[in-house]
Amino acid sequence: MLGTMQDVPLSLSQLLRYGATAHGASEVVTWTGEQPRRETFAQVGERAARLANALRSLGITADQRVATFMWNNNEHLEAYLAVPAMGAVLHTLNIRLFPDQLIFVANHAEDEVIIVDGTLVPLLTKQLPELKTVRHVIVANGDAASLEAPDGVTVHSYEDLLAAQSASFDWPEVDENSAAAMCYTSGTTGDPKGVVYSHRSIWLHSMQVCMTDGMALSQSDKALAIVPQFHAMSWGLPYAAFMVGASLVMPDRFLQPGPIAEILAAEKPTFAAAVPTVWQGLLQHLEANPQDISHLREVVVGGSAVPPAMMHTFEEQYDVPVLHAWGMTETSPLGSVARAPKGTSGEQAWAYRYTQGRFPASVRARLIDDSGAELPWDGESVGELEVRGPWIASAYHGVQDPEKFHDGWLRTGDVGHITPDGFLTLTDRSKDVIKSGGEWISSVELENSVMAHPAVAEAAVIGIPDEKWDERPLVAVVLKEGEQVSAAELRDFLGDKVAKWQLPENWTFIDEVPKTSVGKFDKKRLRTANAEGQLD
Ligand code: ADP
Repeated sequence: MLGTMQDVPLSLSQLLRYGATAHGASEVVTWTGEQPRRETFAQVGERAARLANALRSLGITADQRVATFMWNNNEHLEAYLAVPAMGAVLHTLNIRLFPDQLIFVANHAEDEVIIVDGTLVPLLTKQLPELKTVRHVIVANGDAASLEAPDGVTVHSYEDLLAAQSASFDWPEVDENSAAAMCYTSGTTGDPKGVVYSHRSIWLHSMQVCMTDGMALSQSDKALAIVPQFHAMSWGLPYAAFMVGASLVMPDRFLQPGPIAEILAAEKPTFAAAVPTVWQGLLQHLEANPQDISHLREVVVGGSAVPPAMMHTFEEQYDVPVLHAWGMTETSPLGSVARAPKGTSGEQAWAYRYTQGRFPASVRARLIDDSGAELPWDGESVGELEVRGPWIASAYHGVQDPEKFHDGWLRTGDVGHITPDGFLTLTDRSKDVIKSGGEWISSVELENSVMAHPAVAEAAVIGIPDEKWDERPLVAVVLKEGEQVSAAELRDFLGDKVAKWQLPENWTFIDEVPKTSVGKFDKKRLRTANAEGQLD
């Protein structure tokens, strides 16, 4: 017997219509370094309609790809909504990809139109002749005339295009399983891989972001979306905000700690999301330039493990709770969040909050050992995490990858353990695991312990070859400005924090940990630097 409910697609056209009317007064604020740009959701709706009409006039009639090469700003939000809602597919290009990777992903996704920010035109122009399917480039916030396009490519001004169009569009009811948006993983190994989100997956994921025990985003919030819109859909914040009417603050290209502090002071957001390195930079800035940030009811930190020391600084010095979250481009990205269970407090609650968190009802998880057997959730057995759910990828765009997807599960490449009440602790990425004398050493645990030292700004740990033990950890330390501490002192500091056999004997002091295009520790580059003797 079937249910008797209406079969109504979870389509982003409805999300756009709803946000622009029911929450028409909510705002998107774009930082410009001078007077911020302010636009209501009602205006976003109108401008999205103009954009959709403009794209139609350029021949976008079905599920062609419309790419963005943009910072986080109101125009990017307009594209986020207009492109899927008209039935086309949004492709968010990572502006920090190496030229070869950019060319690869734009060609692989078969992008036909690229909306580019004026400040990024020089970056794109060099690669444009290699982008085989691109027919139109639309320049937002800049001078379209400055772009010299190759033959066959027409250049437009975003504002001129919109001005020439009607502010209403007959949004179709798009099939919920059709592609809405795509994002390529940053490709730390091999070519970048395309993840294609559907209308349904984005809708359901947005609901999870808004759930009280998710990120609890609501109409009362003003959310500062630091995590780039080209990285895992800005963790779903733009769509979730439109769903519930949370105002958005977009930092555009002003991503350094100083400007972020200015944005916080001026706009007083209630919520913000970014990777740990961004927050680390902000905390260092605030140490030298104190400022009240207690208007933030919560900040979400994820993308890599959050050092507990950072969580304590936020909470104890600035009265801002940190929510630790785990996810991947392939998981939309929200996979788990670490809210302490009811009835816990003090140290016990902190212990839960340090973990990567608990999976929501929609996400099933299991741990698998080297032989493929499933491991128990006993808080001790360590294996590779696999997940399954309605906003988890089942394949990559246009390539087979049976290693990554099997029996309906996604192999995450993350290694850890899960408690009987479902809290995940990641000890490593499988490719970063350090195997010493047959035992695993968690690089994440060592990093967190070193970063708890008051003189340390950042610490990254990699495994290096060792004749006796196969591998031993090497700790690359960045000290806070003006601080001095020796390797022996740091080793002593770890004495009561990690097992004796794990205590690293290899230390190096560096100016900066190399970062990936989305601001995570780039251990591949660290390993190369070490192999080339640059860390001696
Ligand atoms: P990339 O693989 O280029 O980093 P993603 O942004 O998709 O691209 O990264 C997902 C990965 O980031 C996860 O598989 C995991 O290794 C890591 N990650 C994300 N959140 C956390 C977290 N809270 N703690 C530890 N690792 C995390």
